[in-house]
Amino acid sequence: VNEQLSAPAPFSFELFPPRSPAAEESLYETIRVLAAAGPDFISVTYGANGSSRDRSLAVLRHLLERTGVSPLAHLTCVGSSHAEASRLVREFLEAGVTDFLALRGDPPKGLSEGEPFLGDLGSAAELVQLIDRVQAEREQYDIVPSRGSQRAGVLRRPRRRVRIAVAAFPNGHPRDTRQNQDIDSLLAKQTAGATFAITQLFFHAEDYLGFVARARAGGVTMPILPGLMPVTSPARLLRTLELSDERMPRELARDLERAASPEEQFAVGVDHATRLAGEVLAGGAPGLHLYTLNRHRAAMAVLEGVGLIPSPSPAQTPPVQTPPARPENHIEETI
Ligand code: FAD
Repeated sequence: VNEQLSAPAPFSFELFPPRSPAAEESLYETIRVLAAAGPDFISVTYGANGSSRDRSLAVLRHLLERTGVSPLAHLTCVGSSHAEASRLVREFLEAGVTDFLALRGDPPKGLSEGEPFLGDLGSAAELVQLIDRVQAEREQYDIVPSRGSQRAGVLRRPRRRVRIAVAAFPNGHPRDTRQNQDIDSLLAKQTAGATFAITQLFFHAEDYLGFVARARAGGVTMPILPGLMPVTSPARLLRTLELSDERMPRELARDLERAASPEEQFAVGVDHATRLAGEVLAGGAPGLHLYTLNRHRAAMAVLEGVGLIPSPSPAQTPPVQTPPARPENHIEETI
């Protein structure tokens, strides 16, 4: 009955900053296609200890200047002092970025979760508070131009609150030491001022739906956006599991192994992600966040598959390209 009234679910994309001029050029082409699809936002990852600060900012600026899409900046706080983290947030706000994904970040190489590696900020929840505070100090009110006034503007309208996303882990975080710590940690981030969460990737709808049910029972009320990645080769699946600590999705692994060509593997990965996307949307997910690995084809195919964007005519469909090999330990691969 309400079909005409219900708006299609929003979707968003994640990108990582490019490492070479060639990668930059191809990323800007990817952005052109992704932006034309009308996402709610495009997020840009941030390298541990600021290793990608300038490159992340360049992509965020490109999004601001060349597209109509809101950029969302990932920021991490591992190893930072209060002053450094505040300076960083100010710098991004100055650039015009107002939406953030506040993250703690992973332990530096050679250290594990049990060892001391944090700086002044002990968790992502503290970074959420800091972003909110820095933004409030910087701009307490929007400047509304006043006609007929000698002054350039008057301070009137209360400021727009920044959107602050946080990470959520449907299958728990490797540091969790007790049951429901993942929910307690998400609740702490919400209490600190987070406005929505984006999940780590997962391969089974019940992982996400069960987690959301536990989060709601635990008092988390903010939207929890499912993070999905279409995995389109066996090698990519192995790398993804290595980086995310997720369990092996046996059926997907088998189907990718059996596929006879890159085209068939692509179809397997897209089909799997499309089914998953349909199931989480049917289960009440507020939208979809797609990890793109800086390529648009698989993400667009998933959105077409669930009917969130129209399918192109066959003449517009380019052939599958085998991706170039990537160096190992790419921080941009953070998932
Ligand atoms: P936190 O929320 O601080 O939690 C980390 C762990 O500490 C959890 O086990 C939590 O339960 C526990 N904990 C939290 N508070 C306390 C406390 N007060 N006392 C005891 N334990 C506590 N990494 C990057 O480097 N760059 C990126 O761009 C990036 N993007 C990401 C995007 C998404 C959507 C996701 C899911 C992850 C991303 N990551 C990124 C990885 C992330 O930085 C790591 O997973 C990191 O280990 C945890 O970050 P967090 O923000 O969840 O940390």
